[in-house]
Amino acid sequence: TYVLGIETSCDETAVAVTMDGNELLSNCISSQMEIHQRFGGVVPEVASRRHVERITIMIQDALEQAGIALQDISAIAVTQGPGLVGALLIGITAAKALSLTTGIPLVPVHHIAGHIYANHLVRPLQFPLVSLVVSGGHTELIYMEAHNHFECLGKTRDDAAGEAYDKVARLMGLPYPGGPPIDRLAHVGMETYNLPRAWLELDSLDFSFSGLKSAVMNVIHNANQRGEEIQEANLATSFQQSVIDVLIEKAMRAVKKTGVKRLLLAGGVSANRGLRSQLQARCDQDGIYLQIPPIELCTDNAAMIAAVGTYQWWAGNEAALTLNAEPNLKMSAVHR
Ligand code: ATP
Ligand code: MG
Ligand code: FE
Repeated sequence: TYVLGIETSCDETAVAVTMDGNELLSNCISSQMEIHQRFGGVVPEVASRRHVERITIMIQDALEQAGIALQDISAIAVTQGPGLVGALLIGITAAKALSLTTGIPLVPVHHIAGHIYANHLVRPLQFPLVSLVVSGGHTELIYMEAHNHFECLGKTRDDAAGEAYDKVARLMGLPYPGGPPIDRLAHVGMETYNLPRAWLELDSLDFSFSGLKSAVMNVIHNANQRGEEIQEANLATSFQQSVIDVLIEKAMRAVKKTGVKRLLLAGGVSANRGLRSQLQARCDQDGIYLQIPPIELCTDNAAMIAAVGTYQWWAGNEAALTLNAEPNLKMSAVHR
């Protein structure tokens, strides 16, 4: 089964072809990162415009690189949400046009399901499992007992982990996106700043990162007032360690609570070196099998969308041509 995946939820125009949901035949990504960098974040209007310019050529590239003719594609999988509505619409409109002209069925995919399935492209998912999803817009613990089955155990009450990285980077005068530069600095610094960890209620699997962001803001503000220099690397290390401590502890709580033996990391923040190595160490210690996507599949791509789409197609979960973008799409609305 060949599936074409289309992803335009944010600032990557991505198209890919997979075979049987786990073999990557092509994975084309046109990133707009440099365009948005000078604004310090993604500008929705600019993103949509760029998607329009790139989508057709990316579809051609993905088919060509896969060596698959359009008529051999079984289904077209497209990100329905969550994401920027104007950006989502470009991918959805392209997918619908293709479906209408070729008769190839359309299947809707939830972007976060995609991030989880990035792992499936490396090694088939084995259930039951818990996935820690850490991305630009989401921080969630998801329980899965089978394909297409997602149960949210906990999520962030304010900022997502990636969002916290981006905001703190901005406060520190580092470029967007903030994850990579903070990760690099954190590697050479020491934990000298005493920053808070939001554990919330005793058994809570929810997250909160806005207090940490405010704490960093205070550190910078106080230093400025006293005319002192910020120890940049040490602040990065302290911030990153606070994020990692909470992510790891909550993930292990979720693993214990559900009794699973398998943990998956997913989303853009799973590219973080500190998180990868410390979570691996903790899982080794606790006898939990940890699966982490390779760096290139951590951030937005369409291969992960095609992977989920394959299971959607096998489950008979087709979308009508009235399919619309859903900026706040719930997983349960598309994956049943
Ligand atoms: P969502 O998937 O929730 O809709 P998104 O698609 O914008 O949001 P991703 O592309 O999955 O998010 O991830 C982007 C985020 O990952 C950014 O916030 C970025 O700062 C963060 N990130 C990337 N690399 C690293 C890193 N090495 N360490 C920490 N964060 C990182
Ligand atoms: Mg992105
Ligand atoms: Fe994403």
